Amino acid sequence: MPQSEPASASDPTPVIGVLALQGDVREHLAALAEAGATARPVRRPRELDEADGLVIPGGESTTMSKLAVAFGMLELLRARIRAGMPVYGSCAGMIMVAEKLLDGREDQETLGGIDMIVRRNAFGRQNESFEAAVEVAGVAGGPVEGVFIRAPWVESTGAGVEVLAVHDGHTVAVRQGPVLATSFHPELTGDHRVHALFVDMVRATL
Ligand code: GLN
Repeated sequence: MPQSEPASASDPTPVIGVLALQGDVREHLAALAEAGATARPVRRPRELDEADGLVIPGGESTTMSKLAVAFGMLELLRARIRAGMPVYGSCAGMIMVAEKLLDGREDQETLGGIDMIVRRNAFGRQNESFEAAVEVAGVAGGPVEGVFIRAPWVESTGAGVEVLAVHDGHTVAVRQGPVLATSFHPELTGDHRVHALFVDMVRATL
């Protein structure tokens, strides 16, 4: 397969899927490619099988939850995550990897992956969206520009969860083993350092 850089045993190019049921899929595909991965949309079981890691994009978690059920992907996604597949969720994606949700819809499903309680729409509605400089542990080179759009925050975390970033007293980036989540959208900024961190996390599992 043609790749921009030749893969070698010491620096393999991971195949990273972007869950393409709903949300800002294109922006994540572009950011992952810039960060050195082979990026592909994932809608079907076979596409999930072929991915070394998965990004769950920003968008609308209630719609993603419904479509994951409709496409027969919900249990497959849960099983891959339980088996240790690296996942990065931004915004709606953070909601999807939460073990527990506050202010979700009654029938809303999450996939789990991070032992945390996430509050949906915690920072307010669309017109309360904002940007802020956010210092993220593990991302060198100064703060990232955090774009928060109807963003969730992390209400509480279990013992195995690392808090990577806090904004205004609220946890906005976390990691538990191979699963990473941010309340904000680095895929919308042109700064690919968070994606590069995730690509490194996936590469470490190859
Ligand atoms: N509030 C949205 C949700 O519940 C998330 C918003 C976003 O991803 N920008 O899914």
